[in-house]
Amino acid sequence: MEVTHNGVCPQMLFNVQPKTSIDELFGRRAEYLTFLDAIEKKRNFFIITGPRRIGKTSFLYATLNELHKEYGVPYAVIDARAATSLNSKYPQRIIAEGLHKAILGKGFVGGIISKVRGIKLSGIEFELHGKPPNITEVLSTINESNDLVIIAFDEAQYLRFSNEDLTRLFAWILDTLHNIVLVFTGSQVGVLENFLRIDDGNAPLFGRYEVRISLPRFNPSESLEFLRRGFEEYGSSMDERELLPVVNTLDGVPGWLVHYGAHRIDGLTNEEAIEQVLKKAMIYVETEFKELDRLSPRYRKIMRTVARLSEGGSYARWEAIRDSLGGRVDEKSMRRYLSKLVDYGFLETIGYGKYRIPDPVLYRVFRRL
Ligand code: ADP
Ligand code: MG
Repeated sequence: MEVTHNGVCPQMLFNVQPKTSIDELFGRRAEYLTFLDAIEKKRNFFIITGPRRIGKTSFLYATLNELHKEYGVPYAVIDARAATSLNSKYPQRIIAEGLHKAILGKGFVGGIISKVRGIKLSGIEFELHGKPPNITEVLSTINESNDLVIIAFDEAQYLRFSNEDLTRLFAWILDTLHNIVLVFTGSQVGVLENFLRIDDGNAPLFGRYEVRISLPRFNPSESLEFLRRGFEEYGSSMDERELLPVVNTLDGVPGWLVHYGAHRIDGLTNEEAIEQVLKKAMIYVETEFKELDRLSPRYRKIMRTVARLSEGGSYARWEAIRDSLGGRVDEKSMRRYLSKLVDYGFLETIGYGKYRIPDPVLYRVFRRL
């Protein structure tokens, strides 16, 4: 068994990297079968959603690797977040690179490999034997040479920064390249919806049939089982009743459970492990909140206010949030701030004018910030 420097095997449950095979994945069987079933029904447009650290990337790789192993279906995954952090206006380049890497990897039908092997990337386009075909040509070639190919965009909402409306490219693929299946994942669910605009009659993707798979949090029993199995892999067992408050604090988000488990294995006490998870969460918040901080410091302020007002599982009222901003904020701006925070998944509404933080770990982080 391969062991990394900190004694964690890659295939173990408490490994903090995304899982990549079905055997490593805890649960998600129904979601996998839903995916498989839709592929068999020749569906070509998938949207996978769920909050941060719920396991979208893990589910995506595990599923695609399984389809590759069992049915020989080749795939390419493009990390849209990486695309924007490198060059947000030209994610085409990263898409091209992602396809390029996948094509040269195993799984793609022989013909295309020799056709495309000479590809060099120049700017946003492929260079093929000296002449530069664009991304649409490469996609057409992929389509012609394979019966079925899956192209996935992880955290696809980041593609909205592109200088070109990529939803037109996606609509064209869905309409004309019938061997290509497109998958989009997103944790900023509202932002993803606003980007894809499937329900907007004037938008390119309007009217396409999409298969939606949403990944929910583990319920408390699943979380307990997850931790039990994780500890068991190290030959240790924990008192389930001690774990119950942990399960409630981390609220079925596998990403947090994994961090907690890894810290316990490293010898930390329950309290210390929770503290470490919160510290980690704070770092995540700092990076993920940067986008909103740039727009206005009020976003962070609102999160702090909601955290303060929604103590003990309650909620914050619209008026109270506005008052906390100094009372001079007009209604339109308020609506904009709040709906953006909801789109990003940082807040949720639980009835008219009532807001709370759905992730209990983030709730605790914002109480400290
Ligand atoms: P997301 O892409 O939704 O942010 P990831 O796939 O990166 O989430 O998962 C976050 C963490 O949780 C990773 O450490 C991953 O290994 C773990 N994880 C997520 N879902 C599962 C699962 N179903 N079984 C085992 N580990 C999981
Ligand atoms: Mg992910």
